[in-house]
Parts: sequence; structure tokens; C-alpha cells
Amino acid sequence: MKQLVLASNNRGKLREFAELLAPLDFAVLPQADFNIPEAEEPHHTFVENALEKARHAARLSGLPALADDSGLCVEALGGAPGVYSARYGGEPKSDQRNNQKLLAELAGQQNRRAHYVCVLVLVRHAQDPQPLIAEGEWHGEIMTAPRGEGGFGYDPLFLVPQLGCSVAELEAAQKNTLSHRGQALQRLIERLRSGA
Ligand code: IMP
Repeated sequence: MKQLVLASNNRGKLREFAELLAPLDFAVLPQADFNIPEAEEPHHTFVENALEKARHAARLSGLPALADDSGLCVEALGGAPGVYSARYGGEPKSDQRNNQKLLAELAGQQNRRAHYVCVLVLVRHAQDPQPLIAEGEWHGEIMTAPRGEGGFGYDPLFLVPQLGCSVAELEAAQKNTLSHRGQALQRLIERLRSGA
């Protein structure tokens, strides 16, 4: 089996990536197994941050590495909170404060269109000149009050218009098939299957 380092210590992500990449003969290992500290995420775009994290993990492990960067982009806020989604409400990061700030920023706003973004970057080695990049977007609207207990982050406020419910009201498996992360991963898998 080929080894692939995941540039994250999030257990949920590790499980999801490991399951989906196992049929392609990849064993996905968390970067913590190599004592790799979290990389800086200094950039203004998802793709730059994901690339930075993937290169960092590849450099310190000597193995191919996969990184993701994701967030919420709200149309009426010019794409904010974007790459700053995790800490939108300030330090230390808090989903509750992030959601409160989002509702306050959108108070009285008619245009509530928003989308989640996920960018995945796979580097074969730290100097890989042609990283594999796959992106997923999930479009919806920001509601005026939270609904549901599932998911994380902005999910209680994110309405899936086709289903008439918030992401926090979906089953985890259903979220994974629809989500920005699920879509990006499917695209990455297609690229890997086609021999990229
Ligand atoms: P990360 O890329 O996993 O660090 O996610 C960055 C931030 O974006 C999270 O802390 C959340 O605030 C937000 N985010 C990303 N994906 C999701 C999602 O699927 N649901 C809710 N919030 C998300």
C-alpha cells in the first residue's frame, strides 16, 4: 500500500479520507504520527493555505502528503469569512461566537446566499511542481436562526435549499455525499483513478 500523510490531526477527516482512499491502495496516516506540528496558514486563499500545509507535511515526513483547507463564503460579505472562517468571532476559536457574528453581520440583509468551499492539495513530494488540486463547493443560504444539532461550525445556520433543512439536521453520511469536502474528495479520487 502507498503511504500518504494527511496534513491534519482531525480524526473525523482522517477516517473519511482513509475510507475513501483505501480502494485506491493508499494508507492515510495523520501527521501527528511523524510529530509534525500544524503548519502556518498565512495566506488569503484556500489553495495557497492547502498547498503550504501539504508541502510542510511532505517535507517533514518524506512522504506524499494531502492537505485540505475549507471555509464559508458569504456573497453579501464579499466572500467573508472565507479563509478566516474558523476564527471569525475572534480567539480562541468558537463555533458559537462565529455563528453569532455571522448573524449580526447579516442582520437586515436580503441576500443570504453563501457557499462552503473545500480545496484539497496532494503533493507527491515537497518540491512537486504539479500538485493535484481538487475543489468542491456547496451552495446554500444563511438562515436567521440556528436549527439542528449535527455537523459542526456554521452547519446550524446553513440552509440546503433543495432539502429545506440546515446541514446540522442532516445525517453525517448524507452530509458527506453532498458536502464541499465530499465533492472535492470525489474529484481528487477521479484524478487519481485516471492515473494523474
Ligand atoms: P478547516 O479547513 O477544517 O480548518 O475549516 C475551517 C473552518 O471553516 C471551520 O472551523 C468551520 O468554521 C468552517 N467549515 C469548514 N467546513 C465546514 C463544514 O462542513 N461545516 C461547517 N463549517 C465548516
